[in-house]
Amino acid sequence: MAETPQLIEQFFFYTNIPVIAVDSGQLIVFCNQAAMEILAISEPSVIGKTLASVIDHREILALFSISQPQTADISLANDGGVFTVYLSPLEGIGSVAIMIDRTHQHKVDAMKTNFMNTIARDVRSPLTAILGYVELLERIGTLNEQQHDFIGRIIFSVHSITAMLTNAMELEKIEAGMDAAREAISMERIVSYALEGLKKRIDGKQQTCEIVIDEGLPEILGNPIRLRQLATALLENAIKYTPESGMIRVEVYSESDFVILMVSDNGIGISADEQPYIFEKFYRASNVNDSSVGTGLGLSIVQSIVEQHDGRIWVESQPNEGTTFTVMLPCYIQ
Ligand code: ADP
Repeated sequence: MAETPQLIEQFFFYTNIPVIAVDSGQLIVFCNQAAMEILAISEPSVIGKTLASVIDHREILALFSISQPQTADISLANDGGVFTVYLSPLEGIGSVAIMIDRTHQHKVDAMKTNFMNTIARDVRSPLTAILGYVELLERIGTLNEQQHDFIGRIIFSVHSITAMLTNAMELEKIEAGMDAAREAISMERIVSYALEGLKKRIDGKQQTCEIVIDEGLPEILGNPIRLRQLATALLENAIKYTPESGMIRVEVYSESDFVILMVSDNGIGISADEQPYIFEKFYRASNVNDSSVGTGLGLSIVQSIVEQHDGRIWVESQPNEGTTFTVMLPCYIQ
């Protein structure tokens, strides 16, 4: 069994941040009191035992089953507490997971969604009226060039607000688990449909799209409409945040009972200090161009869909070099 360096042990033993580490054979090599509490481990000593023998939390076990850096929001405490789990491979040891309490952030997020939904319902009708009357203006008399330009801007803005409201309402539906219907589906088909719908936009920016889909992939149990929405949103971002003639790559493969979708680009990238926030509602990174249309809700929707499918998503990115989003979804085991 591998041993954790003493310094790390001393540092993490007394902290109230939950930390747990396993070796490459999934034997626990470190687990502090805080981790014991939130993982509801009652045994006095867990060192040397297999993770699966002391924890029955499916998502935590799935997280440790892949030795790659991963981040996932997982409901851990009995009282509905939500923790962001950061898992990282540790060379010569195995993997370590640090769990940060995000319960408060989740409550704030839920409040944001409620607030947006109330506004969405109340604002949609007057917006439709504005759009209707603005469009009528062009029909009742000749407009000069400047008036025409101003009307174009009003229409663009109203469409942006409508898109934001539609996304917010969509997010509420997904978070509330209203698309519970599931069927066995092939990720290859989902990705192909999403790509088909975006072909014009990829061609319009003269971008190259490389597609690598493994043969004989296992199916997943999911909602086809939501999964297509997920693939489309990741691809749309790759197109939007990659300059003309850039490169997009889509890869689908399977690994230890999971189907994995990777969407990469060589676009503007996301700085390391902003990466933790991009899945938050309305967050847009500082390097995003003012003219690039967006609501900051796309990735929140994607993350909710992934969570509703018991999957995980994470991002790897370098500013000015590119971004890769990886989605892991459990295979359908009959
Ligand atoms: P938006 O509507 O702004 O695209 P998203 O929720 O889809 O909202 O994404 C949130 C933010 O994450 C974006 O505003 C952008 O800053 C960043 N982002 C997402 N995908 C990419 C990507 N492929 N490349 C660079 N930045 C990205």
